[in-house]
Amino acid sequence: MSKPKVAFFDFTSCEGCQLNKLNLENDLLALLELVDIVEFREAMDDKADYYDIAFIEGSISTPSCIERIHTIRRKAKVLVALGACAVQGGVNAMKNLHPAEWVKEEVYGDDKYLFPSMPVQPVSAVVKVDYEIRGCPMSTPEFLHVLKSLVLGRKPEAFDQAVCVECKLKENECVLDKGMFCLGPVTRSGCDAICPTFGQYCTGCRGVVSNVNESGAVEMLKRHGFSAKEAIKRIQMFNAIEIDN
Ligand code: SF4
Ligand code: SF4
Repeated sequence: MSKPKVAFFDFTSCEGCQLNKLNLENDLLALLELVDIVEFREAMDDKADYYDIAFIEGSISTPSCIERIHTIRRKAKVLVALGACAVQGGVNAMKNLHPAEWVKEEVYGDDKYLFPSMPVQPVSAVVKVDYEIRGCPMSTPEFLHVLKSLVLGRKPEAFDQAVCVECKLKENECVLDKGMFCLGPVTRSGCDAICPTFGQYCTGCRGVVSNVNESGAVEMLKRHGFSAKEAIKRIQMFNAIEIDN
């Protein structure tokens, strides 16, 4: 039986999620036994006519991105958005919070007319996305879980509870009690609360949980000396589009 054909594509991003895959080390060989990688710009020159699974990194931010993502979608049986930029717009979407002309001027100066640019969108705003792997960068265990599930014909597990849940399960001391800010109460889990576990606060890279208890989160932050205004500002780093809507 032939192995599933897998392709990786990058759109607007730092390409950290792609590099993460090249860092799979021991798992990379096991992965290559399960699938045929047929396109992956960072690792090979080959091209393919169709893909069983296409992983998309990065957000959509130019007219040519739109054309290209439609072409990939037509050729892919299953399309997976990979990382914060592809899933929710990520850091790139912070540009949507400023006037477009000002952003172009700041980045390109006099050459701004050479770079067609538009408000950043997640991949799901343009084409159908079948599965999502969140995080900045993507979570490697989650990537392997999704890939193995798809190869075995199973539906991968999706996470939609707050990071605080995983943080409590790890018996971490809450960083709010140490005087730090934390977006764990409103951020989707699945990362095993890696930042609070190592003494950092959660910056919300996995996106906002779908059933946010806004008043509870605001009240809790207030109790620790933080305002809702500050929370919104910080949450915008990875979630400008969700917060804007
Ligand atoms: S450290 Fe952050 S994620 Fe952990 S329990 Fe406290 S608020 Fe939640
Ligand atoms: S703890 Fe928060 S910032 Fe850290 S990886 Fe998890 S979701 Fe991202």
